[in-house]
Amino acid sequence: MSDDKPHWGTLAVRGGEPRGKAYDAVTTPIVASSTYAFGSTKELNRYFEGDHQREEYGRYGNPTVRAGEQKIAALEGAEAAALFGSGMAAVTTTLFELLKSGDHLILTSDCYRRTRQFVGRFLGRLGIESTLVEPGNEAALQQALQPGRTKVILTESPTNPYLRIADLPLYARARDACPGANLIVDATFATPINQRPLQQGVDLVIHSATKYLGGHNDLLAGAVCGRAGLVQAIQDLRGVLGGVLDPQSAFLLIRGLKTLPLRVRQQNQTAQHIAQLLEQDTRVRRVFYPGLESHPDHALAKKQMSGFGGVISFRLSGTVDHASRFVDACKLATIAPSLGAVETLIEQPAIMSYFELTTGQREAIGIFDDLIRLSVGLEDAGDIAADLLQALDAAFAAAPPPA
Ligand SMILES: *Cc1c(COP(=O)(O)O)cnc(C)c1O
Repeated sequence: MSDDKPHWGTLAVRGGEPRGKAYDAVTTPIVASSTYAFGSTKELNRYFEGDHQREEYGRYGNPTVRAGEQKIAALEGAEAAALFGSGMAAVTTTLFELLKSGDHLILTSDCYRRTRQFVGRFLGRLGIESTLVEPGNEAALQQALQPGRTKVILTESPTNPYLRIADLPLYARARDACPGANLIVDATFATPINQRPLQQGVDLVIHSATKYLGGHNDLLAGAVCGRAGLVQAIQDLRGVLGGVLDPQSAFLLIRGLKTLPLRVRQQNQTAQHIAQLLEQDTRVRRVFYPGLESHPDHALAKKQMSGFGGVISFRLSGTVDHASRFVDACKLATIAPSLGAVETLIEQPAIMSYFELTTGQREAIGIFDDLIRLSVGLEDAGDIAADLLQALDAAFAAAPPPA
């Protein structure tokens, strides 16, 4: 890469943080105030006349939250960012701002389950129609476009659990064919370190900051990044809907963001190592990791990403019970939902996220009973690998893989 590569360390540590802080503090203080004092009614008048260089009330903004927003904007290369109390608050507030009754939205079919639920069930109820498009299916995307009606195209990249990569310039051209439409990418799995969608024609980037941006499994947050006017409109609606981030979590998020480049680079490296190891094991049917040549989007990932991330999905050569025994036998990896933090987490999607469906229903949406999702943490790569190998031994000791 050329030397216009972002200076990640400097952006992460210094980005968005004002130099002169209250009380000469070196770190951004937590401003735990829900409301802010005005010196006089004259000052209040000036504020309402548009002099917004100060705080008013916590639902509209907070200095600690703002520092977090500016740091994320710096990392994303965005004009502005807005923080929310969760990734879902960011998704729902953004879609409410951009869509009205009669509009149409295109969503890739393996988007986060709650995003699909919100679009299908809640936006559908408001007369906002949606079309699901399989990632990688260009013909289906073209066919779904309704110029004039389509106002949002929303995709994730990489997706969950198969780590499919959306061809961002292709999606941007689809957006260009629809006047007034915005292209949104939920880039939670990539982080700004591995992918910068705004530089590839995307209008808004959303993150569940609960995952890599926070990075320590100790906070919930969501972020929206993009052009200042668009982000401001979403932020104004945040002030109405109320899904703002609290200053304590903003402080933890800022703290986590300072090590984001270090963490993500290490997780990229560990995940590549583990993915290659699993791919060589006969007890593993198939590994899904964009850093492997066997992944359907490997070439695309190499072109538009600078790292392949810390999540690996794989199918065991066995039954639902082999997969459960494998997960249960892990001693280092923790069974838990979520991803992107310092602890390695493992889950069996059939049992964790899709438990209410039958095997047949799960297979129809591509969730196999023997599928495992692993989010590598920052433990030593050798220890994570050894844990997985001993768990494979345990899972297949009693019952070898079916012929
Ligand atoms: C977790 C997640 C969300 C939801 O974020 P929360 O912070 O849990 O509300 C949205 N999109 C993706 C891709 C996620 O992984």
